Amino acid sequence: MERTGANPSLLGYGCMRFPMDPETKHIDEARAAALIRRAMEGGITYYDTAWPYHDGESEPFLGRTLSQYPRDSYYLATKLPCWEINSRQQAAELFERQLERLQTGYVDFYLLHSLSRKTWQRMLELDVLSLLEEYRRQGKICRLGFSFHDSYEAFEEILNYREWDFCQIQLNYMDVNHQAGLRGLELARSRGVPVVVMEPVKGGSLAQLPQEVTEPLKGLDPAASDASWALRWVASQPGVAVVLSGMSTPEQLEENLDTFSRFRPLDEGEKQAVEKTADRLRSRLKNGCTGCRYCLPCPKGVDIPKNFQIWNNMAMYGNRTLTGRAWRDLEPGARGDQCVGCGRCETLCPQHIPIREHLSRLAGEVEAFLE
Ligand code: SF4
Ligand code: SF4
Repeated sequence: MERTGANPSLLGYGCMRFPMDPETKHIDEARAAALIRRAMEGGITYYDTAWPYHDGESEPFLGRTLSQYPRDSYYLATKLPCWEINSRQQAAELFERQLERLQTGYVDFYLLHSLSRKTWQRMLELDVLSLLEEYRRQGKICRLGFSFHDSYEAFEEILNYREWDFCQIQLNYMDVNHQAGLRGLELARSRGVPVVVMEPVKGGSLAQLPQEVTEPLKGLDPAASDASWALRWVASQPGVAVVLSGMSTPEQLEENLDTFSRFRPLDEGEKQAVEKTADRLRSRLKNGCTGCRYCLPCPKGVDIPKNFQIWNNMAMYGNRTLTGRAWRDLEPGARGDQCVGCGRCETLCPQHIPIREHLSRLAGEVEAFLE
C-alpha cells in the first residue's frame, strides 16, 4: 500500500455483518460499537462499508461510531452502488449523501462496487469515472479503486483501463481460479496495484471444516482454528494489502486479532498442508459444475448451477447452517425437483454432467442432510 501513501492494518473490518437486534431487526448498535472499539484498540485501521450494507444502516452507524476517533486514526472505505446509478448527477448526489452518512469530508478508499463487464461499460457510458477522478483531485476521494465479480478476462480489461490506486477481489484457498483468482492477483501485483481481499473464509465455509479433511492442518498445529489457516493463506499471497473479515461476535474478533497480531506468512510445509486440505475438500464434490450457466434457461425454471452449488458445498463443507440458508434462499420453483427430464440442458453442458440424474437425487439429499 505504500505507493498509495496509506499503511492500513493487514486485517480489515468488513462492515456488512454487524450483530443484529432480533426484535427490531436493525443493527444492535451497542454490541456493534463495542466491536468497533475493540477493533480500534486491537489495531484494525481499515473499515470497509458500502451503501447497501445492512439495508443502508452500515454507513450511518459507522459514521456515528468512527467520528468519535481522530479522523487520521483509521481508513474508511466505501463504494458506489454502480447497479443503482442511472446518471452522472445521481452518482454525485449519492456520493455527497455518503459523506454525510459517514460524517466525513473525505473517503480514504472509494470503490466502484461489484464491477462486472456490464456495469463497467455502463459506468463508462455515464462518464461516472471522470466524476470520481474529479473528487479525487478535490481530495474528497483519497484513493480510487473497484471491487469485482466477473471473469478474469473482464478483470484484466478493467484493471488495464487506468492507473487504479487499489482493487478488491474475492479470494480464498478454494477459489483460486474463480473470478479474478490468483491470476488476477498476480496481474494487479505486476502493475503495482495493491489488492484488498474479500471472502477469505468463503462466507464462513472454511471456518468450520469437517474433521476428516483437516488432518494435514491439525498435524502441524492442533490449536490453530480452521479460519486462521484460511486467513493466513490469503494474507501470505504477495500483493495482498488488506484481508477483510466481516466479524459479528467478540469471539471472532478476538480470534482474528490473535491471528494477525502474531502473523507470519505460511512456510512451505504449511502451504502444502493447506493444499492437501483443499484437495481433500475437492475430492468430496458431487459433480464438476463450473457455474458457467450454458445450460440455462431451463423451460421449467430450474436454476441448475445454483442447485449444484448448494449440493457441492453441502458435500464439501458439511455445514448445516450455510446449506440450510442457501437452500431456503432458493425459490421452490427453481429447485431440482421441478425438472421434467426434457434433456435440453444436457446437450448444452460443456462438462457433460448427467444433469437429470443428478437433479433427481439432489433435493432429497439436501433435505435429508438438513433434517
Ligand atoms: S432436463 Fe430438467 S433441468 Fe434440464 S432443461 Fe429440462 S426440465 Fe430443465
Ligand atoms: S452447463 Fe453444466 S457446468 Fe455449466 S452451469 Fe450448467 S450444469 Fe454447470
